[in-house]
Amino acid sequence: MTTTRLQRARQKLHVSAVPDSLPCRENEFAEIASHLKAAIRDRCGNCIYISGVPGTGKTATVREVIRDLTKQAKFKKLPTFRFIEINGMKLTEPAQAYAVLYEFMTGHKATSKHAAELLEQQFRLPPTSPEPCVVLMDELDLLVTRKQTIMYNFFEWPNRPHSHLIVVAIANTMDLPERMLTNKVSSRLGLTRINFQPYNHHQLYQIVESRLKGTGAFDNDAIELCARKVSAVSGDARRALDICRRAVEVVEGMVAQKQTTSHQVTMAIIDTVVKEMTSSGSVVFIRHASMHQKLFLVALRNQLQKAGLPETTFNEVTHHHLQLCRLHNLLPPTLSALAAICTALGASRCILAEASRYDIHQKLRLNVSEGDLATALKTDPFFRAMVA
Ligand code: ATP
Ligand code: MG
Repeated sequence: MTTTRLQRARQKLHVSAVPDSLPCRENEFAEIASHLKAAIRDRCGNCIYISGVPGTGKTATVREVIRDLTKQAKFKKLPTFRFIEINGMKLTEPAQAYAVLYEFMTGHKATSKHAAELLEQQFRLPPTSPEPCVVLMDELDLLVTRKQTIMYNFFEWPNRPHSHLIVVAIANTMDLPERMLTNKVSSRLGLTRINFQPYNHHQLYQIVESRLKGTGAFDNDAIELCARKVSAVSGDARRALDICRRAVEVVEGMVAQKQTTSHQVTMAIIDTVVKEMTSSGSVVFIRHASMHQKLFLVALRNQLQKAGLPETTFNEVTHHHLQLCRLHNLLPPTLSALAAICTALGASRCILAEASRYDIHQKLRLNVSEGDLATALKTDPFFRAMVA
């Protein structure tokens, strides 16, 4: 009986478990829902740009809104609409976004290039289907390309009188449109913007507590400690849930090995888990990072070693990154892709980036130890020699 208490807690804490509600995001929920409802009702296009650092509930909130609106449509309180989710992380290359949207809208397959042309034609003409189409473009940071045509098209098509296209774009970077498009273009596109602030410790407490409600597996001060530890570095709900889940596993392990008879997660357990996870968290992140994110970290480390200084600039690192690409025969990323890489590494806290400026003179520091960097990259055959 006591074991099920821990098991139930583990299930409720699982990242893929859909929570019954999203506490602390009521305002964002209402705002997104009202924009989407208006656009669906009036059959007009709209483009909503949502930004916020990782784990602030952006994806969860939009999905929750869509679930709610789908229910309303089912009960005839709202016109029916179609919904598709395109995730930048799941595409093999950014332009594949066109092929995915085209296939969803028409049921036909096309190459990315052809799909882009066909969609462009289609959005000039009156729509073939009366239903508006809501497109969630998640992880937009990963869809930036040198010419920015993808972001431009997906933001511009909703403005066409006949497109009936509603785009909800989610990115980590607040000013991606300004950075990637000219100011003139980004202001003409008239995006509706919503920024998700990082959670503070009160909110993280509420989020974890509401998931665990009724399980009785956690001491209140254990949840409080977890919320405070997380909010001190990031305000990331995913991290708070990860810590609590790991804590449940630790207690389960101790019970199995008869090291304890208590089936309760205490402050001491949370403390141990946080220590364990902070030393290995960055290693795990780097292992799962993209090729160029890893290379950027190596370029940063090399620059710092060479200069013998604690910090260097974005310019210096990108210069060296491109040198490494030539050396290893890799296709060099564009400057904007490098800026996105730098932002992603900054958001993950693997690097510390000067917050007040986003140009080539932005100052960068490595925020992981050389040991962690080496441990993470040693398992990748391409990088092994670079960190040996
Ligand atoms: P990323 O930028 O990394 O994609 P995100 O902002 O999309 O992050 P989500 O995936 O929405 O973050 O949230 C991360 C996890 O935290 C999910 O498991 C989600 O269910 C949970 N979560 C986030 N906010 C809340 C909340 N307010 N209440 C309950 N759970 C939440
Ligand atoms: Mg997300």
